[in-house]
Amino acid sequence: MPQIIIHVDMDAFYASVEMRDDPALRGKPLIIGSLPSERGVVATCSYEARTFGVHSGMNIKDAYRLCPQGIYRHPNFDKYKAVSAQLHAIWDSYATASQAIALDEAYLDVTEQAGDWDGARRIAQLIKQRTRDELQLTCSVGLAYSKTAAKTASEEKKPNGYFEILSPEAFVELVSDRDVKVLYTVGGSTAEKLYSIGIHTVRDIRQRPEDVVRLLGKQGRWITQIASGIDERRVEPYRPEEAKTIGRELTFQKDVDNFDLLRDVLFLLALNVENRARRVGLRGRGVTLKLTYADMKSITRSCSPAACGSAAAIWREAVKLLDKVAERPVRLVGVSLYQLTDEEEQQLRLEDFDEEEKREQEAEQKRLFAALEERYHLDFEGHLQQLYHMETLHKTAEYMRRHH
Ligand SMILES: [Mg+2]
Repeated sequence: MPQIIIHVDMDAFYASVEMRDDPALRGKPLIIGSLPSERGVVATCSYEARTFGVHSGMNIKDAYRLCPQGIYRHPNFDKYKAVSAQLHAIWDSYATASQAIALDEAYLDVTEQAGDWDGARRIAQLIKQRTRDELQLTCSVGLAYSKTAAKTASEEKKPNGYFEILSPEAFVELVSDRDVKVLYTVGGSTAEKLYSIGIHTVRDIRQRPEDVVRLLGKQGRWITQIASGIDERRVEPYRPEEAKTIGRELTFQKDVDNFDLLRDVLFLLALNVENRARRVGLRGRGVTLKLTYADMKSITRSCSPAACGSAAAIWREAVKLLDKVAERPVRLVGVSLYQLTDEEEQQLRLEDFDEEEKREQEAEQKRLFAALEERYHLDFEGHLQQLYHMETLHKTAEYMRRHH
């Protein structure tokens, strides 16, 4: 029995909510994010604004240059969160497992409820209809046999779209002649690398899989699979608002008595925590360090820095905590974020819009990576996604332990 997966994604979510609640905004180029007088970026914008070339993630000054007549508003996350809860309640009622990806986006495993593709089509239409009738908002729905295909399908007919991709063959046929970036695991820098060896389309990936793997390592292997329509990941039940903490821990195969090594491993854990928090749009104010010593005695130490979400910031706080505990052999180390409150989320999201700060964090992260690469003769380039998998994280930490 293949999986039947629905990916549902709201159309221009923040902007649509504002337009729904204020008729004066309807039909206008509405840009939600920073104001043109501030430093920052576009969070989202109405389809009317998109016709001017404005898009999310764009510097707000560039947006203003393209669309000076636009209406610029700060986001109201409290409101979007409340609407999001209503949306997810509708969607979840049709799924055995629901994985919230963002406030306005989720994967639903409808295999059981649907029974077959026809049943799934009915569910897709019901989701669209109820979202419109009960919340006066439109969404785009993709129906498919895998997560990648479902996400691709929901993008296909945006806004207010519906599309289905029912087999790997159909997926391959749809995307073969498109730019490699259609595979949503291929970002800008990965695409540039692929172009540099003459690989431009998904077909090129399929024809030269060895070259892709040679160029991109494990990430390349994943990309060649996706390019062939293979993606067996399950929908993992996840509700971000239920998460009190987001953390990662790992147990060493041999006890570690070198705290410099622990500091380095903590950075990998911090990266994982950052990634998981980012995926669900949450940030924390508190950082907790957990250690289990060789004698099985566990301790936790916490601190409440200013709002903190980047790997470098989480790592810095965790290291400060580590510096204060007894240096005895350790078998387990963990780090987590807590106090994932609305207020914090809002502050941090706004902070996220600050590009300069973002650049600084990225630079610091790069420095930390470079130090690790040099110390352990590792090459993280292109392997970052893999590090987010527990197994890879564990293997890398073990490698570091043996080569310290
Ligand atoms: Mg959306």
